[in-house]
Amino acid sequence: MVHDHQGRGAATGVTTQSPHESRPSRPASAGMTATGADYSMDGLSGEAMFSSGAGYTYDDFILLPGHIDFSAADVDLSTRLTRHITLQRPITSSPMDTVTESRMAIYMALLGGIGFIHYNNSIEEQAKEVRTVKRFKNGFITDPIVLSPEHRLSDIDAIKKTLGYSGIPITEDGSMGSRLLGIVTNRDIDFVTDRNTPLRDVMTTDLVTADQSASLDEANQILKSSKKGKLPLVDKNFHLVALISRTDLLKNRDYPLASKANNKSLLAGAAVSTRPQDKDRIDALVKEGLDVVIIDSSQGDSVYQIDLIRHIKHHYPELNVIAGNVVTTAQAKHLIEAGADALRVGMGAGSICTTQMVMAVGRPQATAVYRTAALAREYGIPIIADGGISTIGHITKAMALGASTVMMGGMLAGTEETPGEYYYRDGVRLKKYRGMGSLQAMREGSAHRYLNENDQPRLVAQGVTGSVVDKGSLTNYLPYLYQGICQGFQDIGVQSIPDLHRALYAGQTRFERRTPAAQKEGGVHNLHAYQMEML
Ligand code: GDP
Ligand code: 5GP
Repeated sequence: MVHDHQGRGAATGVTTQSPHESRPSRPASAGMTATGADYSMDGLSGEAMFSSGAGYTYDDFILLPGHIDFSAADVDLSTRLTRHITLQRPITSSPMDTVTESRMAIYMALLGGIGFIHYNNSIEEQAKEVRTVKRFKNGFITDPIVLSPEHRLSDIDAIKKTLGYSGIPITEDGSMGSRLLGIVTNRDIDFVTDRNTPLRDVMTTDLVTADQSASLDEANQILKSSKKGKLPLVDKNFHLVALISRTDLLKNRDYPLASKANNKSLLAGAAVSTRPQDKDRIDALVKEGLDVVIIDSSQGDSVYQIDLIRHIKHHYPELNVIAGNVVTTAQAKHLIEAGADALRVGMGAGSICTTQMVMAVGRPQATAVYRTAALAREYGIPIIADGGISTIGHITKAMALGASTVMMGGMLAGTEETPGEYYYRDGVRLKKYRGMGSLQAMREGSAHRYLNENDQPRLVAQGVTGSVVDKGSLTNYLPYLYQGICQGFQDIGVQSIPDLHRALYAGQTRFERRTPAAQKEGGVHNLHAYQMEML
């Protein structure tokens, strides 16, 4: 990437001292310097910073360094996503159709975060995406689709169409745990014209199998030497116990951070709108094992959303509900009191977003996060800082302002796991990234995020369509972000997200506003051109 000037962020340049400056509660003598000044007076507490009446973005301030007595490797980034769900890493991917479908959601969860599947699709399509996440097992497929010899080729065609696989084990009664009789793969059925043919006539019965006690390594060895596409695992009575797929061989690595539900499946999240029809959508997603739902609305403080939170809490008490979006304490209070398990914070801060320009409503993101997080903390509800994150430092700043996780669209767009194809322009490898309020996305279905129940269907765009550069695979990119966050925490002098929050509310985290000149100084400057090296 070549830049000719520093990135983003309009500076306010406000430098007034607040009358509300609150000092940290520590003994005065402990905070004295040799000159008799209280060192804790360096910079401002969060409360002092955000009480000036100005609205700040992440680039408007800087964190002052603390004392380092631990290594970056000792930083613990585990955090709360909702009242009930803990993640090993504080990063979530946005429910946008150029960011999160099942592949993205699987890798976000494997790497310690979570991805929220968008709903710019039919109920069936979204349910299928959730199903794919919930079914994912690293290496072993323990609940594969199984058919009986009496099923027809047309049944395989239907599975291929909805789920994408065609390697189907055939058991006596068509279920797992029953005696394995054969396997049907593409090669058995490609050229059969009569799709009514029973599977018993086409299935391969000359099977290579492994015992259920085989380790993943042993099973992979058998797959390699037999050159088969699928390896069924059986017990001593030849009853089917699991399936291993050749396509997964290269993907089989350890994911110690993986975000999992109690039954060990990956955590799945998805978004829905506040429209009444989406009650059916929620029902379909819950049937697939959805763990957490986002109620997606750009202005979340509405009777529609409050009704939906209550509906979900009544009918699906196990389902975690993330409500939003909010930016003020009053909005946050309404949704928390309706039963939200977490809040999504941000209005108009997204990189593809034009809400503040078009609607004249919103809030600069740093102020929104600080204010809502302080209120939500009183209720024990975590905050997701959503949108406006374009550097690793912004992630750390969001946490320092009280967020427990961040949600990103643009930062994650362009990774291999996101939907869409790469293309080249001017020699640069790009992927499409668009706002869900862009005309293009709304025409394809996402209008309900930006329109209320009775609004006329005249579409006013609140987002744009654009492109981002190729960022490679999440499996390299996310660990790179994590390392950057750990180093930021080390510089602040805190070892965990809860510690950072405690330091914030004790007034020990010290902030300083940045003038436009300070922002310029804090970015790369006075170069003709430069290369931003990432990995
Ligand atoms: P197939 O050969 O047409 O079945 O498809 P591939 O082997 O190319 O891809 C199957 C992918 O889907 C692998 O990554 C599997 O781990 C995954 N998968 C998840 N559940 C199932 C299932 O029930 N059956 C099959 N065949 N694959 C599954
Ligand atoms: P980013 O990470 O790219 O800065 O922002 C992503 C966030 O922007 C999303 O999570 C969502 O809250 C918001 N967003 C997505 N699409 C649009 C849009 O078209 N308009 C507006 N106003 N916000 C959007």
